[in-house]
Amino acid sequence: MNILDLEYAELEKIIKEAGLPGFRAGQLFSWAQKGVAKPEDMTNVPKSLWEKPELDGLSVELPEVLKAQRSADGTGKCLLGLKDGNAVEAVFMKYKYGNSICISSQAGCRMGCAFCASGMNGLERDLTAGEMLGQILAVEEETGEKISHVVVMGTGEPFDNYENLAKFIRIINHSKGRNLGMRNITVSTCGLIPMIDRFGDDFPQVNLAISLHASDSKERSEIMPVNKAYPLDGLIEACKRYTEKTGRRITFEYTLIKGVNDDRKHLDKLATLLKGMLCHVNIIPLNEVKEKEYQAGSRERAEEFKEALEKRGIPATVRRELGSDIDAACGQLRSGSRSK
Ligand code: SAH
Repeated sequence: MNILDLEYAELEKIIKEAGLPGFRAGQLFSWAQKGVAKPEDMTNVPKSLWEKPELDGLSVELPEVLKAQRSADGTGKCLLGLKDGNAVEAVFMKYKYGNSICISSQAGCRMGCAFCASGMNGLERDLTAGEMLGQILAVEEETGEKISHVVVMGTGEPFDNYENLAKFIRIINHSKGRNLGMRNITVSTCGLIPMIDRFGDDFPQVNLAISLHASDSKERSEIMPVNKAYPLDGLIEACKRYTEKTGRRITFEYTLIKGVNDDRKHLDKLATLLKGMLCHVNIIPLNEVKEKEYQAGSRERAEEFKEALEKRGIPATVRRELGSDIDAACGQLRSGSRSK
């Protein structure tokens, strides 16, 4: 059993059932979340603990760094090997406010967004909570830097793996572990409506981002199949319920795709759709994926969108593009097997 997959209370139960004092759970939990895997490096934990038959098989398992790349802008990308031979990517980014990691929530993805590389081979499997946490630890080890912010925006749809995502958030937020603030975590979804409601109840302090990418429902269905199950009107309603319930601003991501959603009429519709909402729009010029025919909307058009939205009272930014030279930018992450 991987300690990284356990919530504090679960680990404490195992420790107590082995006849050990409860504080040992805190020590193990804390070492594990520092990425310390070897028993001999856990200096305050007696060796005899590991000889307890009840703790047989308990260990800290980190993903293996299969490949590490660094971009000219400081962004880093790691391909991480999981125990079963799958591999996922995580991206490290430096910001003024601290260091951020973009982690994957699934190996592959079944949402099938037309412009994204992550879902091209469908879903392989869900990642466990410990595999999400393991990405943070492996990247800290690889870069030698401490991570203060986590965004769940890598490969996979986090709300299609809700239970493990929720467990992961509780584990990294726990005071005996990394104690990472809820407000330092951001989750991005393509719009699974029932989970947006649930997330607002469970984690009102965690930041929520919605991948919108269209202001017309029919057009959204063409690039995002999820819109057929959860159409745009219902999505916007769910977002309004979320902001009312939590009082938190939602980020809408809008990837500009040339000739698809970058027209003035798209802009007008977008402004009308979001009018009066507690939100922020992040405009992202498309990162081109070699297997797809979609092209990026221009930087100028992105600025035009931003200015026009702001004029109409909707805060907007154009996302700074990081790491595209190493295919680490949004939508460019892939998963695969170790042999890749
Ligand atoms: N499944 C989640 C999180 C992963 S995608 C979601 O859909 O939100 C992270 C972000 O990158 C999403 O906004 C996604 O739509 C966007 N994205 C995907 N492909 C892209 C591309 N080629 N260029 C720019 N952004 C892209």
